[in-house]
Parts: sequence; C-alpha cells; structure tokens
Amino acid sequence: MAARPLTWLTEISSQQRNLAAEVIGSPRERIVRALEYLAEQELIELQTAGIRLRYRRIKMPPDVRTLTQSIYERMLQREVREVARLHRVLEFVAHDGCQVSSLGAYFGEPRQQPCGHCSWCLNGGKAVLLPERPRPVIDEGLWRQAVQLRRSQSEALAEPRSFARFLCGVSSPRLSRAKLTGHALFGALDHVQFQQVLDRVGKHRHES
Ligand SMILES: [Zn+2]
Repeated sequence: MAARPLTWLTEISSQQRNLAAEVIGSPRERIVRALEYLAEQELIELQTAGIRLRYRRIKMPPDVRTLTQSIYERMLQREVREVARLHRVLEFVAHDGCQVSSLGAYFGEPRQQPCGHCSWCLNGGKAVLLPERPRPVIDEGLWRQAVQLRRSQSEALAEPRSFARFLCGVSSPRLSRAKLTGHALFGALDHVQFQQVLDRVGKHRHES
C-alpha cells in the first residue's frame, strides 16, 4: 500500500513570518527563501495568495482637505483626458484623408503620399461617416425613482458625479461600499451619455 502523502494546509501570514523572524533570530528574507527551497525540493506546495502592499505613512500632510481636493482634481482631469482620447479615435475613424498618413503625422512621421490601403484610400478618397447617435430621452418615471433613491442614500449619491456614475453603471469604491452596485437602478441610464446625465443632475438641483 502506497503511503499517502501528508497534507498540511496552512496559511502563513506576513505578520507570522515577521514574528518567526524575530523568534528564530533570522532575517525575514531567509525564512521566505527557506520556504521557497522546500517548495523547489517538492517537499511542500507553496502558494502565494492575498498579497497586500503595505504602505507606511512617513509624514502627515499638512492639510488633508487640500490634498483631497488636489487628488480629486487630478482624477477629474484624467477623466476628461481619457474621454478626449476616445473622441480622437472616433475622429480618426471618420478622418477625411489618408488614415495611415494621419496616424504617421500623429506620431511625428508624416507620409508624403497616401498609403493606398487604408479605408479612406480604398474608398476612393471618401471619409467614413459615423452613424448618427440620437440623444436618448431620459425616462421621467425612472428619473423620479432615482431621485427618491438619492434622498435615501444621501451619503453615497449626494455628489452629482456619484449620482451620474451610479445611473450610468460606473462603479466606484463609494458605491460598492453603500452596496449600490447591485441595485436595480445601477446602470439604468447606461445608454445615455455620462455628460447628459450629469447635466440633468445639475439642472434639477431642486429635485434632490
Ligand atoms: Zn491611406
């Protein structure tokens, strides 16, 4: 009868390794290396899971409010930049001219002649027309429900942008924390442009 391999399931947390290092008087790295060695010898099966990056606060920012504001503004700028980039892709698709030339020029290598094999060149020098996107109508009944929910979830949805994100189905840590990403109205307006929803939130401040 073959001996059954001994299974010993254990979790070693980072703190335990630190403690072991202290008790044995060996550096933590040496313990990690020893575990890796045992795994290499196929004496144990080693799996790394649930890695957490630890940060240490070196100093307290002088003004948390200013810091929060500056991070928030940076995030907003990033959002604007990313949306603009997407628009540039659409412009590129509908560009009236050789697309390869236009791409080359974007990266600082303009071409002298049209390429002859992009959609514009193959299309006999005609630009692609993007389909019209009609502005969707926001259902009033749905909007009323949303406004009602916003009143009861004032902490998570008070901020116009959070409310618009919720309706467009864009999750955020705040929405997940409030367990709103599973709500029936989460993403109810995902067919509407974010800006249109945001405008509506701003326009109807008295509703909230
Ligand atoms: Zn071309």
